[in-house]
Amino acid sequence: MSNAKAKQTRLFSKSKLMGYRQCPRRLWLEVHRPDLREDSTSSQARFEAGYEVGAVAQRLYDPKGVGAVIDAQAEGYDSALSRSAALLASARPVFEAGFAAGGAIAFADVMLPVKRRGKLGWRMVEVKSSTSVKDYHRDDVAVQTYAAREAGVALESVCVAHIDATWVYRSGDDYQGLLTEVDLTEEAGARGAEVREWIQGASKVCALTEDPVCATGPHCLAPFECGFIGHCSAGEPKAKYPVTWLPRVQTKALKTHIAEGGVIDMRDVPDVLLNARQLRVKRQTLARRAWLDAKGAAAALAPHHGQPLLFLDFETIQFAVPRWVGTRPYEQIAFQFSLHRLTPGGDLEHEEFLDLSGDDPSQAFVLALLRACGSDGVVYVYNASFECARMKEMGVRFPEGGLRSIGWPLVSSICCLSSRSTTTTPASKAAGASRRSCRRWCPNFGTTSSTGCRMVVPP
Ligand code: SF4
Repeated sequence: MSNAKAKQTRLFSKSKLMGYRQCPRRLWLEVHRPDLREDSTSSQARFEAGYEVGAVAQRLYDPKGVGAVIDAQAEGYDSALSRSAALLASARPVFEAGFAAGGAIAFADVMLPVKRRGKLGWRMVEVKSSTSVKDYHRDDVAVQTYAAREAGVALESVCVAHIDATWVYRSGDDYQGLLTEVDLTEEAGARGAEVREWIQGASKVCALTEDPVCATGPHCLAPFECGFIGHCSAGEPKAKYPVTWLPRVQTKALKTHIAEGGVIDMRDVPDVLLNARQLRVKRQTLARRAWLDAKGAAAALAPHHGQPLLFLDFETIQFAVPRWVGTRPYEQIAFQFSLHRLTPGGDLEHEEFLDLSGDDPSQAFVLALLRACGSDGVVYVYNASFECARMKEMGVRFPEGGLRSIGWPLVSSICCLSSRSTTTTPASKAAGASRRSCRRWCPNFGTTSSTGCRMVVPP
C-alpha cells in the first residue's frame, strides 16, 4: 500500500484521538515512537482497575453468560472487526465489539440487543472505573458513537456506566448495584462533526515528519499523566528551585503567570503573586534554611503537657471493586500503622502493625492500634480529618465487642498538628523534608513513618 493510500485509510482509535486531544505531540509520539512511552505505576494501577471493573461489568450485563467476547489483541483487528459485524447480526450481548469507519476505530465495552417493533437495535454501554462521568468520558463516548454510526450500527441508546461510590459490598461476589448509568445518547449523537474535526487534525499531526514541538506543562497530567513525560522533559531546562514546590498554586494570577510565562523556577515568580505561606516557602528555599514556628508548635502541644504524646501515621489501600465485606468502592482501608510514643519523661517508644495477608486487615488493625495507644495520651496525626474519618468507618464496620465504643475516645483524642503550617524547609514540598526536620529536633524519631505527624518540639 502506498504511503498516500495509508494516510487516507489510517484509522484512529479512541485512545489515539484522546491522546491528540491532550496534546498533538503525544499523538505523534504514540504513532511514531511508542517505544519512548513509559507508563507510571499509577497509570498501570488505573489500567488494572479498568480491567477489573470491565470483568465485573460483563457478569452484570450478561448474568446468564450467553454473550460473546471479542479480544482484538488475541485474534487480530481484522478478525475482531469481521466477527463483531457477524455477532451484531445476532441478538446476544457482545463485549468489546469493534467498529471501523469514518477514519475511527473503536471497541465498545458492552453492546446489548434491543428489539423494537421487530427490529434489532443496540444499547451501547461504556464502562468506567471512576465514580462520576468526566468530560473526557463524554469525548470518548462521542468517538465511540461516531464510529458505530458510521459503521451502520443501529444504536438505540448510549450511556456511561460508572461506579456508585456509595454502594457497599455485602457478600458472595454479588456486585449488583456497583455500576450506575448516565444516558448520553443525545449528546454523543450530536458530536459527530466535532469527532470528524479531531480525526482531520490527528491525520495532519501524524503526517508530520518530525515530533511537533510542545513544552511540558499542566496538560501533561490531565486528564491522565502522559507516558512521554520522561522523554519530553529530558531536553528541557531544569529548575534549581522548581515552582512545583510552591504549595497550593490556586490563584488565577499565579497560575497564569506560571503557565503563560513558561515559568519553571520560583525565583521567577514575583513575591506579590504569592500568599504568606508560598512566600515563606520561596524565601526559606532560596535561603536554603529550614524554618520552624517553635512558638506555634509549643502552643499546640501545651494543652497536653504532662501526658504521653502519640505520633501516629497509617497507610491505606483502596479498590475500585471492593473485595472485603462491608467496604465501598475506593474506600481507604488501613493496613499499616507506625506509632511513636513520647513519654512525659522524654523516652521514645515505637509500635507498628502491618498486614500483608490479603485478607481484610481492618479489625486486626483497630485492635492493634487500640492496644498500642493505651488509655492515656494524645494522638497526633498529620491530617486529623483523614485519620478520624478512617477510624470512624472502622468503628461502624466493627461495632461488636465494644470496638465502636472503644474507638470513639481514640478518635476524639486525635489532634492535628500539621507540620505544613509550622515548618518550612528548603524543598518543603515533600513530607520527607518534615521527617528530616523532626529527626533534627529529635534524633530518635523513627524512620518507619512516612506521611503522618512529623512534629516533635524540643523542651
Ligand atoms: S509529556 Fe506533555 S508535552 Fe510531552 S507528549 Fe505528553 S502531553 Fe505532550
